[in-house]
Amino acid sequence: MKKIIIANWKCNPIKKNQAEKLFSSVKRGVTNIKKIELVICPPFVYLSEIASSSNIKLGAQDCFWKDQGAFTGEISAKMLKDLKCKYVIIGHSERRFHFKETKEMINQKIKAVLSNGMIPILCIDQINQIKENLSVINGKKMKKIIIAYEPLFAIGTGNSCSIKQAKKTNESIKGILGQDSVVLYGGSVSSKNAKDYIFKANFSGLLVGSASLNASEFVEIVKSIS
Ligand code: PEP
Repeated sequence: MKKIIIANWKCNPIKKNQAEKLFSSVKRGVTNIKKIELVICPPFVYLSEIASSSNIKLGAQDCFWKDQGAFTGEISAKMLKDLKCKYVIIGHSERRFHFKETKEMINQKIKAVLSNGMIPILCIDQINQIKENLSVINGKKMKKIIIAYEPLFAIGTGNSCSIKQAKKTNESIKGILGQDSVVLYGGSVSSKNAKDYIFKANFSGLLVGSASLNASEFVEIVKSIS
């Protein structure tokens, strides 16, 4: 199975031309990469500029669960589907912390992503969140969900999780969801540690924040596991 590498640009960059430049530099750098599913999740406003291409898929960083209506400021899963998004990140720790997202909201969002034929990437930092955040999802649909293990202390800090702890958590998640479940690691991934999470801790892929804003570093990460 292809390894998955997801770039989470968060609320960056500030200008559209910077986003286009970042995307085209990454695209140029990964032209010959095979056996990797590469996904870029830019801010919503750049989704249309960054059309998905055969070697880079498009993802969103969040969504709203209702299709449309009087919900000022929200972007629905249905709208993201129309923009050709394949993946949607749900329950990122920054959304849980800054925007007070609850397990009920996360459940609704996951449901909306699935019912619009996209793949949810559920971010967790504790094992119990699997049960809490997926309580309304039934057995068959569970197989479509990707889990991203992102320990809080490792996000945006430069203090990545030890391979030993990451591997142990990966095994615990697979113990709950099945050995064939897709589990990613996220938290201060760099070109120096990326391959260890894949080849030593056996993750199916990576969720990359800060390092995805530097095209050459991000391309190095991709190359290190391809
Ligand atoms: C993230 O926010 O999902 C993330 C992994 O960030 P960073 O790579 O900067 O730690």
